[in-house]
Amino acid sequence: MGSGQVTAPVASQSPEPYRFRGRRITVAGLGVSGVPAARALHGLGAHVTVVNDGDDERARAQAAELERLGITVRLGEQAASTLPEGTELVVTAPGWKPGKPLFAAAAQAGVPVWGDVELAWRLRGPDAPPWLAVTGTNGKTTTVRMLASILEAAGLRTAAVGNIGVSLLDAVLGDEHYDVLAVELSSYQLHWSSSLRAHSAAVLNLAPDHLDWHGSMEAYAADKGRVYEGNRVACVYNADATGKPSTEDLVREADVEEGCRAVGFTLGTPGPSQLGVVDGILVDRAFVEDRHRNAQELAEVADVDPPAPHNIANALAAAALARAYGVPAAAVRDGLRAFTPDAHRIAHVADVDGVSWVDDSKATNTHAAQASLAAYESIVWIAGGLAKGATFDELVASAAKRLRAVVLIGADRALIREALARHAPEVPVVDLDRTDTGAMLQAVQEARRLARPGDTVLLAPACASMDMFANYNRRGEAFARAVRELGA
Ligand code: ADP
Repeated sequence: MGSGQVTAPVASQSPEPYRFRGRRITVAGLGVSGVPAARALHGLGAHVTVVNDGDDERARAQAAELERLGITVRLGEQAASTLPEGTELVVTAPGWKPGKPLFAAAAQAGVPVWGDVELAWRLRGPDAPPWLAVTGTNGKTTTVRMLASILEAAGLRTAAVGNIGVSLLDAVLGDEHYDVLAVELSSYQLHWSSSLRAHSAAVLNLAPDHLDWHGSMEAYAADKGRVYEGNRVACVYNADATGKPSTEDLVREADVEEGCRAVGFTLGTPGPSQLGVVDGILVDRAFVEDRHRNAQELAEVADVDPPAPHNIANALAAAALARAYGVPAAAVRDGLRAFTPDAHRIAHVADVDGVSWVDDSKATNTHAAQASLAAYESIVWIAGGLAKGATFDELVASAAKRLRAVVLIGADRALIREALARHAPEVPVVDLDRTDTGAMLQAVQEARRLARPGDTVLLAPACASMDMFANYNRRGEAFARAVRELGA
């Protein structure tokens, strides 16, 4: 195999500098992004007013703290719908729906609206590190963490930041010096970003999600596609994706810097300008000399944890971004080996009597559950919860052949039961009509009764957890606890 050709890192671009001093800026929403944004803008000499729908105890405590600094705060539905007099810029929490009256008022007054990511991008210093950005319906957190692990293995100072729960504003304004940032971006954050220009970016996949927020699949895809705007080195797309629009379509529509390349990743044999898999080896045919004849070995499938197909795709996307930044092949292998998945993402809990128990509580939508169901041959599937408007026909039809049995829990389990009746009528189904704390233990007991040696019992609910649990972490913990009780 040929030697890996690497692209030299390029310095970050900046949009037109925005002068914050003396400007009247409205921050929409207290909370994880609003409070630090208000503080930062106040610190830059802007006149900041924060508006927030909620008027509860927590909001009042946060408001009191900001008011002590001299920031104006207005609480309540009415305040959050009204554009304060003289506003020159709105900085919004990413989750605020575009249909809110505040935004209509801003549009009418010709006032720009930025999200937290746009603000962080604008506040970067002159020697700011470039961003390698990742978005997609599923796999963002995993891919961004794999990417950071690879960059670290290459000796670079980096961090996984953004929608992953680490504020971009903190990363941009903090004292820590980074060479490059691995940035997770949600579709909401991208909706409110206009001047962001990543060094390189990947859209991992596109499946219907958050459509109530974006309004349509087209609008959702268009917001995801913004991550490619202005890319300088590589736009990384999923060459195996079949949906419309595909991630490759989004690359085609993006306005990028001259010389920026479209680089695909595939679970099959890669063509030129792609990364893919050959005989259990992850290979690069994009960032090599003479990509028409050469390929560079990066790592083995067994270096990826877990080696499920969708996770190999995540590893290839992370590798593509790292290679676009100039990381050597050995660092890709070392970084993937050093990576351990976050909890509740296809986590192997135990083997009991020849049955493997796997916690993918983070599979909170049908696209994610479909990926994890595709990773096992014979499955007792524990599913159900809050469906968030999803339909289950495609998921059930694609998994039907692999299902030994199904145990249903949660508020919207009837939707899955009906899809099973349509597409997998022979598969035994246990429908648990209870949502108390003991329900998971009973689900696990039922699953044990149904499983045969060699089977996998897979918690991949395809639904949100809030009908029965505080969050998906608690749901996964309840599952693991029940499995341990069972094994004891
Ligand atoms: P995100 O940050 O996009 O929510 P995570 O990395 O946290 O993604 O993974 C969430 C869930 O999505 C996982 O538990 C897994 O079931 C599923 N998943 C991960 N990667 C992919 C992928 N590439 N395609 C489909 N589903 C995936």
